[in-house]
Amino acid sequence: MKHALITASALALLGAPQFALADTSQDFADSFLPTAFVDAPELVECELSDGTTSECYKMTVDNKPDEFTIGPFCPSTTSEDGGLWNWDGDKAGLYRIDGAFLQMLDEQGFHFYDADGTVHISDPRTEQPDVDNACLQASLDDDVTMTLLIPAHPKPAAKPSQLGTVAKVGIALDGVPIFADAPSVLDTGHMPALDVCGGHIDPGGWYHWHATATDIGTALNSANVSADCALQQDATEKFAYAFDGFPIYGSRETNGSMPEGLDECGGHDEGEGYHYHASEGFPNLPTCLKGVVAENNFTTTAAGGIGSEHGGGPGAGQMPPGMEEAAETLGVDPQDLMQALGAPGQRPDLAEVAEKLGVSEETLRNTLPKPGR
Ligand SMILES: [Zn+2]
Ligand SMILES: [Zn+2]
Repeated sequence: MKHALITASALALLGAPQFALADTSQDFADSFLPTAFVDAPELVECELSDGTTSECYKMTVDNKPDEFTIGPFCPSTTSEDGGLWNWDGDKAGLYRIDGAFLQMLDEQGFHFYDADGTVHISDPRTEQPDVDNACLQASLDDDVTMTLLIPAHPKPAAKPSQLGTVAKVGIALDGVPIFADAPSVLDTGHMPALDVCGGHIDPGGWYHWHATATDIGTALNSANVSADCALQQDATEKFAYAFDGFPIYGSRETNGSMPEGLDECGGHDEGEGYHYHASEGFPNLPTCLKGVVAENNFTTTAAGGIGSEHGGGPGAGQMPPGMEEAAETLGVDPQDLMQALGAPGQRPDLAEVAEKLGVSEETLRNTLPKPGR
């Protein structure tokens, strides 16, 4: 395992950051589990989202840490308990995916099971669901790796960036990437079930978090959900680094006290420097990123899903109808447009997409093809 070291004089050349550095580079690599990486962090030059050039840690992680037990996701029948879902329709909240929950969705018009109680389960890595409402449970692809770039000298952005559906949040110290809210059943009809620790498998075949997994017990308690995540729970522990390089802790300070003066993102500049805290409710992740992020900070060898070359699931690489024309109208490259929109079936943040492409949100909204079912 190679550790990239940075000398004090090299740091001095880069100038003082606006926030105190929470960690030295050695601490950065050492704060991860030894098993977290396929390729350990090394310092590389990188472009940041504010247009400057800086240094980033570049690291490659596996599709899932070895000896990591995941699931359950979708229950096979309504008499079994699956994982978790954060329901955003009527009677919104965090639920265990069990018969009672699926029946509640059934009453709201989402039919995830047959008359005999068999749950419709589909693997979005290999197939398109053949029903309107399927519980999605992707299979792993053991050949897939992900490469991430995290700024080595974190600094605040001019304004925080909101974390919309499946936005990139960070990398957990176990080497598992973290994303904001999974796509809503209300938008897609399908439920990409989370397991009891708040993770699931992307259509690209790799596992990722949608929660601060080492403090999910607090979120389960506050939602009154009965489920046991096998991971060691510790609300005071550092869980991850966000894509802006600032660390993410559980819902408590390291001394056990409640964090004070948290900003709109769920962070504060206290003690060792700026850091985020998990909220007590689900999803217990930062809601925005305070700092600048690296360009192209997440790539994967997977054929589909988030971060893949074409950003697609099954049938990746094909342009949705009308997309080439829309790109031409907007005067942008079709692949750039697809990349900016993110994975299909997931609601993109159009304001963010418009800003990325340098067009107005209204023009974008009027130009994009209307999604079909
Ligand atoms: Zn996900
Ligand atoms: Zn704090």
